[in-house]
Amino acid sequence: MALQRPKGTKDHLPDGSPQLKLDVSARAFQHVTDTAARVLERGGAAFIATPLFEEAELVKRGVGGSTDIVRKEMFTVFYFGDHGGYVLRPEGTAGLVRAYLENGLKQLPAPLKLWTHGPMFRAENVQKGRLRQFHQVDYEVLGSADPLIDAEAIWLMVQVVQALGLTGVQVKLGSIGDPEDRDTYNAYLRQTFTPHLERLSDDSRDRLERNPMRILDSKSAGDQALIAELSVKPMLDFLGAEARAHFEAVRGHLDSWKVAYVVDPSIVRGLDYYRRTAWELHHAQIGAKSALGGGGRYDGLAKELGGPETPGIGWAFGIERILGAMEQEGLGLPAAEGPAVYIAALDAEHVPLAAWVALGLRSEMRADFGYKPQKPGNAFREGERRGATFTALIGSDEAAAGTVALKHMASGEQRSVPVGELSGFLLERLSDSQSGIS
Ligand code: AMP
Repeated sequence: MALQRPKGTKDHLPDGSPQLKLDVSARAFQHVTDTAARVLERGGAAFIATPLFEEAELVKRGVGGSTDIVRKEMFTVFYFGDHGGYVLRPEGTAGLVRAYLENGLKQLPAPLKLWTHGPMFRAENVQKGRLRQFHQVDYEVLGSADPLIDAEAIWLMVQVVQALGLTGVQVKLGSIGDPEDRDTYNAYLRQTFTPHLERLSDDSRDRLERNPMRILDSKSAGDQALIAELSVKPMLDFLGAEARAHFEAVRGHLDSWKVAYVVDPSIVRGLDYYRRTAWELHHAQIGAKSALGGGGRYDGLAKELGGPETPGIGWAFGIERILGAMEQEGLGLPAAEGPAVYIAALDAEHVPLAAWVALGLRSEMRADFGYKPQKPGNAFREGERRGATFTALIGSDEAAAGTVALKHMASGEQRSVPVGELSGFLLERLSDSQSGIS
């Protein structure tokens, strides 16, 4: 049997591939990243790209030593003579903040808005919507703690998914307060759970020591039943005055911009460097267990990575999950654009000339050519199959006269155009897509 791709990975394939669904369509994938680029760059974000592998220590500090990601899901990178200290990145924020600090991006005007997209790696138990290599679109803002930045970040996330046509999305907004608030909350959680230690899962007993808040997003049904039974109060009840004012300000902006959201007191981010605003993006038809994306403020992260105190906030969504949601909603893609012109030679002798004419047009437009000579009927059918706006033929008469025989596919009109005038002629006709040839 031929070799297969690793478990938990996907191939994103070109149009026309057998059984192509949206979640493995390369064009759909590109449509998501192009749409994100348009929306985020209009919002003032600059593209950044960072390595796919980073020091394990960076990921440990950035994602948190107590998380499943770091404890169970890291892909370690080995190479000849290596100390084994690198891992494939499981998310984008840590590397991006490292790059910000390491390259002196603090000198750029603040707030600095950055975006990226690319593969992320987690050695997860593979199941529907849970891959080992998946892709994220990531937006991060460094250098401001203003709640207006938080609201704008949420607005942009919603804009991207709406620009893709998704309607069933919902923002669940919460706040995890300031570190002091979380200390108080953790003390409350310890007090609440300690009398019921024997009913907690092993993982959660461990969390009670290290990071009690993480018990709340435990995947164990027993833990969740206990949480419900004890009517555990949410973090939101423990916000201090400043964190509460920040939360209200974010909500105020979202309300005034008519961004729909629901307050979800159960949203938790267990790491020390997270502050205040946290949210998730959900989809009605995909269910609460698998979010499309999430975001939060991480004012303590830069310091955790050894840099100066730098406020930051960001979000990421999973491209495969977004494509899954688009498929659920029955959304399509914008029609694939064919070439402006398909150029065919009528005999073998003139194939290089047809190629030369096509190559010359490519600085202005997409121009395809036939690698083999074709009869006129076949050439027109090929032009149509490719979705070409025009088909051009070159035979002995055209070669001698320095022209092409051009056909406008939609109207069927034909005329002869000198090769030297072809580019100008096509550009003019293409700019007015309704018009034919004459
Ligand atoms: P996280 O960094 O865990 O907050 O994840 C952000 C988003 O990335 C999630 O909401 C998902 O859309 C996506 N994501 C995370 N893990 C996976 C995975 N294993 N497979 C596919 N998508 C994922």
